[in-house]
Amino acid sequence: MCRPPAVDAVLRSAAGKEAIARFGRPSVVAAVRAALSELRASGVPHSDAAAIGAIVIERLAASARPSLRPVFNLTGTVLHTNLGRAPLGQAAMAAASEAMRGPVTLEYDLGTGSRGERDEHLSHLLCALTGAADATAVNNNAAALLLALNSLAVGREVVVSRGELIEIGGSFRLPEIMMRAGVRLIEVGTTNRTHPADYAAAIGPMTALVLKVHPSNYRIAGFTAAVPASALAALAHERGVPLLHDLGSGVLVDLRRFKLPSEPTVAEAIRDGADLVTFSGDKLLGGPQAGLIVGQRDLIAEINRNPLKRALRIDKIRIAALAATLALYRDPDRLALDLPTIRLLARSESDIRAVAERLRPLLQAALGLDFAVETVSCRSEIGSGALPVETIPSAALAIASLSHADAGRALVGLAEALRKLPVPVLGRTAGQRLLLDLRCLEDEAAFAANLAGLGEDAGQGP
Ligand SMILES: *Cc1c(COP(=O)(O)O)cnc(C)c1O
Repeated sequence: MCRPPAVDAVLRSAAGKEAIARFGRPSVVAAVRAALSELRASGVPHSDAAAIGAIVIERLAASARPSLRPVFNLTGTVLHTNLGRAPLGQAAMAAASEAMRGPVTLEYDLGTGSRGERDEHLSHLLCALTGAADATAVNNNAAALLLALNSLAVGREVVVSRGELIEIGGSFRLPEIMMRAGVRLIEVGTTNRTHPADYAAAIGPMTALVLKVHPSNYRIAGFTAAVPASALAALAHERGVPLLHDLGSGVLVDLRRFKLPSEPTVAEAIRDGADLVTFSGDKLLGGPQAGLIVGQRDLIAEINRNPLKRALRIDKIRIAALAATLALYRDPDRLALDLPTIRLLARSESDIRAVAERLRPLLQAALGLDFAVETVSCRSEIGSGALPVETIPSAALAIASLSHADAGRALVGLAEALRKLPVPVLGRTAGQRLLLDLRCLEDEAAFAANLAGLGEDAGQGP
């Protein structure tokens, strides 16, 4: 009867030696033992040492692969929250990498040789770009809102329109954040209409803040009324209460410059009289995850005195990336080149269509005769709740199954095969087709090389 080889024989084989060099002896020994005992249990006849060594290498390589991996985002959603939102530009990556390497002047003032402030690396840039007097940065915009509310209104009332009590997704619901911040929510108006008199009647001696929230991820249409930021600021100030404006997306330039739908900028919100404005670093701003708070000096000082600030602050790596990203805004003409978020959003349909035309024959060849690939027009979304209604014209490779038996299943199988590629390719389904929106594809050569991994079983259902 054939017996499986001994552990030692596998370790001494060429494959075994390669495995030890790559993954270390302890993991390889454990993997060889596991493979051999499976072999015994299954009763499969003899496998030689080299074959088992190869299986072990394959398994260890698979388990060593990180779960956080690069993908091709061809979903058509540019700022995809589940895919990490904004891709960083070269300058930001270089700065982050430099900051990671070793000691930096995070909280050190080289002029005086004494302790410095980590916020200073960002605040002068943020003030210059927004017209605000001071600025601070925390982990994300949810944290910015939580911190601002807790610092300025704990135990007191915050007045908000019912039309702005939003859920951003995940577990970010404004009423819950307010409760956790320790403030009392005073709702005014109705879902579709809120008037100045509603706010005026609600502001009283217990009111600490008036909050305005940009309804970033939805639109109420039809018979609606909201109080414009400038009128609301005037009203709040008349009653001696500051206005906090949560903008969501941190737009720092007029997007119409790039032929994109316009979205209120942070500078506009400050100009309209908001005392504090909060926004994200990794939405339309195009930087790393962060929450920025800009506004009045005394209010920012109050926020910085809150012990929660220490729990929510950002690290040197993100400060470096954010500062480098903000620096790009000093020359808005270059944003469409140097800031990936703007570059991708500003890409014209004809440019994207040209990419599709170049890649279509390659994809068709890789998929074989079971699928038909054509170039179609489609619409991309900005994503992350920014400009939810406006989509931008784009182009996609649309893949249809030619299988008469079960086209739907074949398409599901193909989507799975694309997710199993060395660099997973993520598209979206639209009716009976799989769409690969090419707006966010810049490295065509890498995409083409990756297709080689499709092999022969592409499109076979599970
Ligand atoms: C996205 C968003 C938030 C949350 O920002 P994160 O950076 O994701 O924490 C808060 N408020 C508004 C209006 C938003 O659009």
